[in-house]
Amino acid sequence: MSEVPILEDTERTSGHSALRKNIQAAMALAGAVRSTLGPKGLDKLLVDDQGRILVTNDGVTVLETAKVEHPVARMIIDASSLQDRQVRDGTTSTVLLAAEMLNNAWHLISEGIHPSIIARGYHQAMQLGVNALNEISMEPSNDNWIMRAARTSLAGKGELSMQKQIAILACDAVKIMSDSGNVDPNLVKKLTISGSAAADSELVNGLVIAKKPVAREVRGNMDGGRILIIDGGIERKSTSTNASILVKDTGVLEEFRRKEIEQVMVEVEAIINLGVNLVALKEGIDDEAITALSDAGIIVYRRMASNDMNLLARATGASIAYSASTASESDLGEFDSSKEQIWNGVTHWIMRGPGSGLTFIARGGTKEIIDEVERCFDDALGVVCQLHKEAHILPGGGAAQTALARRIREFANTISGREALAVEAWADACEIIPRVLAENAGLDPMDELLSLVSAQAKDGDTIGLDVNNKCNSDMFDAGIIEPVSVVRQSIQGATDSAIAILRIDDILWAKQDLEVPEDVQY
Ligand code: ADP
Ligand code: MG
Repeated sequence: MSEVPILEDTERTSGHSALRKNIQAAMALAGAVRSTLGPKGLDKLLVDDQGRILVTNDGVTVLETAKVEHPVARMIIDASSLQDRQVRDGTTSTVLLAAEMLNNAWHLISEGIHPSIIARGYHQAMQLGVNALNEISMEPSNDNWIMRAARTSLAGKGELSMQKQIAILACDAVKIMSDSGNVDPNLVKKLTISGSAAADSELVNGLVIAKKPVAREVRGNMDGGRILIIDGGIERKSTSTNASILVKDTGVLEEFRRKEIEQVMVEVEAIINLGVNLVALKEGIDDEAITALSDAGIIVYRRMASNDMNLLARATGASIAYSASTASESDLGEFDSSKEQIWNGVTHWIMRGPGSGLTFIARGGTKEIIDEVERCFDDALGVVCQLHKEAHILPGGGAAQTALARRIREFANTISGREALAVEAWADACEIIPRVLAENAGLDPMDELLSLVSAQAKDGDTIGLDVNNKCNSDMFDAGIIEPVSVVRQSIQGATDSAIAILRIDDILWAKQDLEVPEDVQY
């Protein structure tokens, strides 16, 4: 291809060679997380650029921590991160599916099928696949199934006692949230306390903040009251740096200071007049204000994190006021109790309000264990929240994907032309899940897949591979269960990113080390 002058600072790869490189990048990425899939998956030890160590079995964590620069690999990581944000689980499966779809597409491209035909076939297969998943899924008949789904999402991660405890806590959290009418995983605050075992992690029905009130003689314990949350402080305004005060006689400075304190006291007065019991401030508070507010029996917490302020507002129904002097009655929130508790020598403030406010306390002997406990809770909570939103479950252990592949292949037989080959290639790609589950359990992927397909033909779609017992069995009976939304999102996310990558036939790499002209200022 002739060089286009305008692109002379650009490296260019086009056509099949571009596509081949992209598919190789996707396969390499999948290779990095393949061995973590399923309960027999292994952990990865990651070291980030600051030398911090992380041990995890979580695919998306591996990918987000690794410094991946290839743009196509990044597109797949983004699909996996999207999966993480939307449904919190199924991240490794998404990457494996996307890479396998691309790998199968490459075989068809080598046989002369145009990528756009493959993209069309993949899209059609995905739409049918989504409908087929609904047919395979069923409603959980009792809460125990939901607990089993939470346990399935934790299989292979940490110890059994921890998995059990985390699954119970995730179910409890969703139960409490649904009683207060708002189920959202983001409403659960996570706090880490090192020391005891991972299985001692707990859920506190209230918002826990590692803080103590500003005046030490004031105890934070109270049964009910009103709270004001201010997005600022109660402080003297700091004089702007280039302003100066001309002091002609000694009284001027004193007068200036007196005016400043007066201003602070106006704000204190406004708070006292509102009749609040508690004040939470984003910024600091002056000593005079601390004394006046504690004399009035008002407890103050300062330098709150923004996230805590938002959670506090939701738990108490307060609106965050701009300042003390502009705050009004309608900004106030209510709380049922405000308590203090000391964990590991640190005072924690526990607030309970009429709105939802929950805190998961992750415990563990080392930071690495605590981090993994937190990620496990995220997965389990995500799964239980998904099932609250959409109460449909699928058989795990590769059963759903195997059944899906069978149905899509039947459909491929009803259409003609090259698109049918693409639909079939998509169906084959779904089987990467049972194949890798078998591989990671030390079983032969091909033998296991064949035996699974014939067992399903005989006994139905719910037969999957139980890797703990190394046999095919009914996944619902074995309690290996997944929310339909997780599996659906993983096949959609994988197909979308595979199609996006198939449509690329030109890669233009700008030269990386461009010099910045001297007169350009940033
Ligand atoms: P992902 O990031 O995709 O969620 P995981 O490592 O969590 O990856 O593995 C999830 C897969 O493991 C699912 O396909 C699930 O059905 C499967 N799985 C979980 N427990 C078992 C089990 N006991 N036997 C077979 N497969 C299992
Ligand atoms: Mg998982």
